[in-house]
Amino acid sequence: MTETNNHYQIVIIGSGPAGFTAAIYAARGGARTALLGGIAPGGQLLLTTEIENYPGFIDPMVGADLMERMLKQAKRLGAEVFTEDAVSVDLSVRPFAVTTAFGRVYTAEALIAATGARARWTGLPSEQKFIGKGVSGCATCDGFFYRGREVCVIGGGDTAVEDALFLTKFASKVYMVHRRDKLRANFRLQEKLRKNPKIEMIYDSVLDEVQGDDRVKAARIKNMKTGLTRVLPTPGVFIAIGYDPATGVFKGKLKTDDSSYIVTDDRARASVEGVFAAGDIIDPFYKQAIVAAGSGCKAAMEALKYLEEIKK
Ligand SMILES: Cc1cc2nc3c(=O)[nH]c(=O)nc-3n(C[C@H](O)[C@H](O)[C@H](O)COP(=O)(O)OP(=O)(O)OC[C@H]3O[C@@H](n4cnc5c(N)ncnc54)[C@H](O)[C@@H]3O)c2cc1C
Repeated sequence: MTETNNHYQIVIIGSGPAGFTAAIYAARGGARTALLGGIAPGGQLLLTTEIENYPGFIDPMVGADLMERMLKQAKRLGAEVFTEDAVSVDLSVRPFAVTTAFGRVYTAEALIAATGARARWTGLPSEQKFIGKGVSGCATCDGFFYRGREVCVIGGGDTAVEDALFLTKFASKVYMVHRRDKLRANFRLQEKLRKNPKIEMIYDSVLDEVQGDDRVKAARIKNMKTGLTRVLPTPGVFIAIGYDPATGVFKGKLKTDDSSYIVTDDRARASVEGVFAAGDIIDPFYKQAIVAAGSGCKAAMEALKYLEEIKK
C-alpha cells in the first residue's frame, strides 16, 4: 500500500487522559501516530478547576494545566495532534478510514477509540455557569473539598445514591433531591441511605436555580407537586443524573452494551480486529482520569502488539 501523508500506523480518536496516554505510548513505541482530538482537546478535566487525586502532583493541579502537559508530552514524543472532530469511521476496509469534520480522511492500521463520556447536566443556565465552581458531576473527584459543609445531590438512581453515601464521609449533611416520590436505586443502596442520619431526602423536587457570586452559595429547589420552592444553603451541588458515553461515531460499527459503552475484552480489544478502546467510553464504573490514562496505556500497548502481528 502506498503511504500518503494522512496514513498512520495508529490513529487515536479522543483527547482526554485516555487518548493522550495512548498517544504517548504509541509514539514512544515507534508507531507513526495521529491523535484526532476534536476542536477543544483536553476532555472532561477542562470542566473542573482543581484535581487532587492524580498521582505525582503534591499540590492541587488545575485540570486544564494537566491536560496541556499531556498534550505537550504526546507531541514531544512524536504524536501528531489534530484539532479535528472525527465524524465517521469505516471499519470495513483495511486500512481503516476516519473522516473528520474538515473533510480530511485519515487512514490507520490500528485505531484507538478514546472519545470519553459526558456527565448529564440538568441544562439550567445557572448550573452551567457554576460548573467547576461548586457544581460538580463527580462526587469521587470533588467530595473531599466539602469537609464539614452541607451539600446536595440531584438524582435518584444507583449513582446518585452511591454519591450521596460517599459524600457523607466528608459533608456535615447531604440533601438528596429526587424528582419522583421514590428512588430508582436498588434496594440494598436504599437501605443504606435510610440508615444514614446525615442524609435528608427531598422527594418530588427538582433543581430550580443555583445561586451564588463567584462560587455556589445555595441551591433553590422546587416541589413539582406543590410548586413551592426551598433554598438549601449549600456550597456544593452534585449532579448525578447519569453519563452518556461519546460513542456516536462508532454506532453500529463496534459492539456496545445496553448503555452504549463500547465492549472490550481484558486486552482493550473492541469487536473489530485492530480496533481498541480506552477510557470513560468503556467504563461505566470508575470514571477517573487515572483509570482512563491506565486504559489508554493498555490500548496503545495492545495496538503496538497488533501491528507486530500483522507484519508477520
Ligand atoms: C466536572 C468533572 C470533574 C472531574 N474531576 C476529576 C478529578 O478530580 N479526578 C479524576 O481522576 N477524574 C475527574 N473527573 C473524571 C475525568 O475527567 C474522566 O474520568 C476522564 O477525563 C476520562 O478521560 P477520557 O480520556 O476517557 O475521556 P474525556 O476526558 O471525556 O475526553 C474525551 C475527549 O475526546 C473528544 N472527542 C469526543 N468525540 C470525538 C470525536 N468524534 N472526534 C474527536 N474528538 C472527540 C472530546 O471532545 C474530549 O475532549 C472529572 C469529571 C468531571 C466531569
